[in-house]
Amino acid sequence: MKKHNFSAGPSILSEYTIKNAAAAVENFAGTGLSILEVSHRGKEFVAVNDEARALIKELLDVPAGYEVVFLGGGASMQFCMVPFNLLNKKASYLDTGTWASNAIKEAKLFGEVDVVASSKDANYTFIPKGYQVAEDSDYFHFTSNNTIYGTEMRYDPDMKVRLVSDMSSDIFSRPIDISKYDIIYAGAQKNLAPAGVTLAIVRTDALGHVDRAIPTMLNYNTHIKKDSMFNTPPVFPIFAALQTLKWYKELGGIAAIEKMNLEKAAILYDEIDRNKLFKGTAAVEDRSIMNVCFVMNDEYKELEEEFSKFAAAAGMVGIKGHRSVGGFRASLYNAMPKSSVEALVATMKEFEKQH
Ligand SMILES: *Cc1c(COP(=O)(O)O)cnc(C)c1O
Repeated sequence: MKKHNFSAGPSILSEYTIKNAAAAVENFAGTGLSILEVSHRGKEFVAVNDEARALIKELLDVPAGYEVVFLGGGASMQFCMVPFNLLNKKASYLDTGTWASNAIKEAKLFGEVDVVASSKDANYTFIPKGYQVAEDSDYFHFTSNNTIYGTEMRYDPDMKVRLVSDMSSDIFSRPIDISKYDIIYAGAQKNLAPAGVTLAIVRTDALGHVDRAIPTMLNYNTHIKKDSMFNTPPVFPIFAALQTLKWYKELGGIAAIEKMNLEKAAILYDEIDRNKLFKGTAAVEDRSIMNVCFVMNDEYKELEEEFSKFAAAAGMVGIKGHRSVGGFRASLYNAMPKSSVEALVATMKEFEKQH
């Protein structure tokens, strides 16, 4: 039976990515060797690394003055790397969820942290608005998409201070105005590649303004100066990332992908709003187009377990909600076909009919 992979991360990858990755595991770029065993310094892989970084710049329209690097340690490593490189005295953070609060915790090790607003008291069901960011902050940090709670800031905020964003779960889902940002980072395992690599887009003149010594591996400049090849990079995830990026280009680029994402999300939210059994958990105006969170309506609460089984039997994978929200979460990353969203909606309709 066809499986529909709604997992939050690691998550669905395009057939194109998986097919080309599988072929390269057997024979990489005609070398007669597996991608799993080649030197990262060989010309074939250096070409992959360079092409992937160039395609990211092309697809996201990255202006001059920025560099793209592949790093280790996940998005979680960026929670400390950002303040290590940028925080002199004070930084401002928006607290919109677990990942945002993890980032805040790390920043506090480096200086004063001003949490400008938080929706924690409402279990992060909305994005706070109308907050003030102090103009003497070294930077403002926000999480563009809250993977666990299904809320998203689908715009690039105007700030008088440097802007940093954790875009792990919505990078490449919509066009972004990179020129507004100083650092954007994203773990690859949601919208790009298998787990093991993290992407950072860095405005180079944002670096070099802190007094502290920065460990070599945690200094963005180390990686920038060596074309993202200072040490052994995660060869296979980068190869897979390149396949996904090529597929994005083939689809018509990020604007075309955003259109598909909006359509997919609308199909599912429409059903959640229509179906008497379910309700969405996130404030309507802040709903994420990547992670759709929903629960059973109060009077049908006892059906949750039964719907889980019903959906699993219909091939739905990974729709259990995060334990801090409960219910269900369907992640609709770029590689999720519309037909899978339609299959989930059909399952919800059928379950409603039976109850
Ligand atoms: C998944 C995720 C993370 C954590 O990423 P790791 O690579 O596991 O460290 C951080 N932020 C967001 C928004 C995420 O979705």
